[in-house]
Order: sequence, then C-alpha cells, then structure tokens
Amino acid sequence: FDIRDYKPTGKERDFENALRPLQFGDFSGQDKVVDNLRIFVKAARLRAEALDHVLLHGPPGLGKTTLSNIIANELGVGFKVTSGPVLDKPGDLAGVLTSLEPNDVLFIDEIHRLSPVVEEYLYSAMEDYRIDIMIDKGPSARSIQLDLNPFTLVGATTRSGLLTAPLRARFGINLHLEYYDDVVLSRIILRSASILGIPCDVDAAGEIASRSRGTPRIANALLRRVRDFAQVKGSGRIDVEIARYALEALNIDRYGLDEIDNKILCTIIDKFKGGPVGLTTIATALGEDPGTLEEVYEPFLIKEGFLKRTPRGREVTELAYKHLGRSIYNNVKT
Ligand code: ADP
Repeated sequence: FDIRDYKPTGKERDFENALRPLQFGDFSGQDKVVDNLRIFVKAARLRAEALDHVLLHGPPGLGKTTLSNIIANELGVGFKVTSGPVLDKPGDLAGVLTSLEPNDVLFIDEIHRLSPVVEEYLYSAMEDYRIDIMIDKGPSARSIQLDLNPFTLVGATTRSGLLTAPLRARFGINLHLEYYDDVVLSRIILRSASILGIPCDVDAAGEIASRSRGTPRIANALLRRVRDFAQVKGSGRIDVEIARYALEALNIDRYGLDEIDNKILCTIIDKFKGGPVGLTTIATALGEDPGTLEEVYEPFLIKEGFLKRTPRGREVTELAYKHLGRSIYNNVKT
C-alpha cells in the first residue's frame, strides 16, 4: 500500500466524493485562502458577475478540486470539470466553453499540461469571453468568432513553475495551498468518520493524522484502511490501539513519509554524504525532474525538518538520520 500512489478510482473515488466538503464551512484549514475566497465570492455575487479566474497551486490531495467545487456552490452556479491532458485539441476546449451557462465555474485540473495550441485559445476566452475557431480546411478555411457566456476558470496545478507567464497573468486570483497540520487533519478525519458512521476516538484520529503526510486525501484513505482493521480485529470502534496496530500492519511510516521521501533522503546520505548538494544533482541521481522534486516532493520534507535548504544546496538533517536509523558519524566528511 503506497500512500503516494493512492489515486482514487471506482469505489475509492465514490468514497472520496462522499467525503468532499460542499461549503466553505465544511472545509477545514487553509484559513487565509478560504477567508480571501469568501470575500471574492461574496463580491462577485453582489455584483451578479462572474468571479475572476482563480489559480490554485499546491501538492496533490490538499483540496484543490474540493475548493473549486465549493466556489461554484457558494456562487450558486454550475460546475464543469476537465483537465489539461483531456483537452487535446482546440475543438475540445471550444466544446466545453460553449456549454457553459452564464457565470459558471470551469475547473481545469493539471492546467500546466495544456498543449500550447489549446492554451493559446484559452487566452481570449479568459480575457474577452470569446474564441476564434477555424472551420473548413484548405482554401475555404476561415475563422469565425464565437461569443461565450462569462465564466470563471479555476485552474489547478501541482507544478506552478511550469505555467507560462501569459497564462499565469490571466488569473486575477492566485492562491497557494499548504500542507495541513495534525490538528486540522484530525478534525478532517473525525468529520469523515462521522459521515461514514464509524466511531473514532480523538486520539486515534490524531494517530492517523500524524502519519498522513499533511494531506487530507491520505488521511481519508488511511481512515478507510484502519476501519477495516477495527471491524475485523477490534470492536468496530477506532481507538488508538487499533489505529496503531493497523498503521504498523500497513507499514505506514511514523511521520507519514513514503517511499519516494525515504529514497530522496537515503540518496543524499548515501551518494552525497548528507549534502549540501545541488537540486539538479539530486534529481539526476534519482532519475526525477528537478522541478517536480522542488515543487512536489521537497516542501514536505523541509516543512517537517528532514531536509534543509542552504546556500550551497540541500542538506539532510539529524532528524532524518535518526528516523532512517542511520548514523550521522559514518558520513563525516574528510
Ligand atoms: P486535490 O484536487 O488538491 O488533489 P482534492 O480536492 O481532490 O485534492 O481532495 C482530496 C480529498 O481530500 C477529497 O476527498 C476531499 O474531500 C478531502 N479534502 C481535501 N481538503 C479538505 C479539507 N480542507 N477539509 C476536508 N476534506 C478535505
């Protein structure tokens, strides 16, 4: 069970959807982001206008899709979902855009993966609610202009560094989601447990939270797995003993680190004597893209104090050595 690879499909997606908050009031944490959005949404409602386009960036599973859905609900407008890789041709985009009702929210997940041609079409759609499409081919080819209803584009990305400047400039509202602390994650777990009708003790929720890598998606997924243990091995109630037992049995790291996290730390220790070492050098050793390393993997390790950014590169901390059961003294530089 690899928590990073947890991508909900089928039944798991239904499970995730059942737990998805539908209003700002049900959405825990990210207080600054939510406070700002509440104001922008209220102002747009007062003016009966489409909300400005919103860019949400941050690591996977922190609530970008959820928030965009909430924005649409709170605006009282329709909500359509698509993603960068799905919008393969300009025609795909035109199809979605022309189906929008006035002031609807269009959510484009993984917006950094839009093809350059499609992105080009999006510019005028975002700016003037208008697109030019080519009809016919060869000598009779001509372009016609289509007027669109005003709409709000909510774009989500884990890799905001890959967004082109012209696209980024067209978002009036630009918000970053942060990893959650354990207190907020516990609250999310208790809310999920109550929706699912699973009795769950507060300290058990805390135990699950601390191993959830700051991520609500992982927290909910672990809750679901722990529930199985509580029902089969326990009384059905999730208490701290059964939570610990289940998390050990599932081989979940005490700090919620996953395989890639551990691989990054071990690589720096084993190949670069714990650092400092440059980001690109680490990325090459791991066979990873430096941007992904910097924007997706590294922030959590830094936040939790396993990795440090220094002027000379990345350095593994004492906590990381301790957690991995390594001796820092084997790595003393000569
Ligand atoms: P993202 O789009 O950033 O990858 P999602 O919005 O799909 O993440 O969230 C993943 C899961 O975590 C969903 O089931 C959602 O209900 C839950 N979730 C995310 N953020 C919160 C939150 N702040 N409060 C409660 N549940 C949350």
